[in-house]
Amino acid sequence: MEIKGLKDELAGLKNEGRYQSLKIWETGSGTWMELNGRKVLQMCSNNYLGLTNHPELKQAATEAITKYGVGSGSVRTIVGTLDIHDRLENELARFKNTEAALVFPSGFTANQGILSSILGEEDAVISDELNHASIIDGIRLTKAIRKVFKHKDMDQLEAALKESADCRRRVVVTDGVFSMDGDIAPLPDIVALCERYDAIVYVDDAHASGVLGKNGKGSADHYGLHGRIHVQVGTLSKAIGAVGGYMAGSQSLKDYLIHKARPFLFSTSQPPSVAATCLAAIQVLSFSQHLLDRMWNNTAYFRDRLKEIGFDTGISETPIIPVIIGDPARTSRFSEELLEEGVSATGIVYPTVAMDKGRIRMIVTASHTTGDLDFALDRLTEVGRRFGLV
Ligand code: PMP
Repeated sequence: MEIKGLKDELAGLKNEGRYQSLKIWETGSGTWMELNGRKVLQMCSNNYLGLTNHPELKQAATEAITKYGVGSGSVRTIVGTLDIHDRLENELARFKNTEAALVFPSGFTANQGILSSILGEEDAVISDELNHASIIDGIRLTKAIRKVFKHKDMDQLEAALKESADCRRRVVVTDGVFSMDGDIAPLPDIVALCERYDAIVYVDDAHASGVLGKNGKGSADHYGLHGRIHVQVGTLSKAIGAVGGYMAGSQSLKDYLIHKARPFLFSTSQPPSVAATCLAAIQVLSFSQHLLDRMWNNTAYFRDRLKEIGFDTGISETPIIPVIIGDPARTSRFSEELLEEGVSATGIVYPTVAMDKGRIRMIVTASHTTGDLDFALDRLTEVGRRFGLV
């Protein structure tokens, strides 16, 4: 049974070059993956440290399935809090240097659940314009006054803080690392302003945890701001290699969210094997820096070569490296031609980014070899020449 109007809208997306069909990969997440029987170099996975295939994580998952079975059977507040969930939360709190942590079904629902719980109509939320969709949706669920400041514009942030002086709470929200440009939030400035105006600092570290700071502890550690950020959100689906999200903050915030955050209250808890996988990932990160070092060396190598070739990599400071192409249709074509050449890198187009800022968003990981990166550079140069970009 057709739903009226959907096909027309889809045709419109096709016309604008914004239509996407899902690619069906025939192998697990890794550096080289198979698509239609062909090996393709993966340059856009969030598997920053290559942990999805780490032997210690696989073993932890297998052992947890043997011990606990495959599912938890309930939401956390009924019978779905197993000792493995408790251990994971304690380890996450230790890893992030906070009093407590609380796991959510995903990073997306963590943002939705936390923002909609701590903000009411007497409050204001002040958000960077390039924050992730889950923050935007979380804010939409509240009745708080909404203010958006231009990307990393501290004057606009200060003005918004002044304008909202009468509110009960002011929550300033920012991504730690911005997911489309790969730049880092100016957290020391944000924290200083929030301290001056008695506001709450909320950082979404989805792309910073496992990436920035010692052992991947995130942007608070990167800037030496432990104890000065009220809410840190993380995901367990990117550098950590599994799935899930979490809040790291005070014990009182955790206790409050256990009573109020709807995705926590009404969604079944993580399968124990997933919690065990995440625990093993935190252990791997805590005891070794070498995967992070490799990822950062690869990042510097790849970004420097791209710039030498003549590509515009925008304002990237992290393993997220955009190659700016321009309008949506051209960006999608570039991504398709690159895939034909054996390199997978998604085209990101309007409305995710501005209409003229379509880009191929590349992510460098610890698992890429120099040979892999050279292959990607070679294929990018070939397609870039065809498009007159280099
Ligand atoms: N925040 C940011 C900045 C993200 O990039 C993402 C993932 N795209 C999320 C939150 C959501 O995380 P998850 O995939 O765990 O839902």
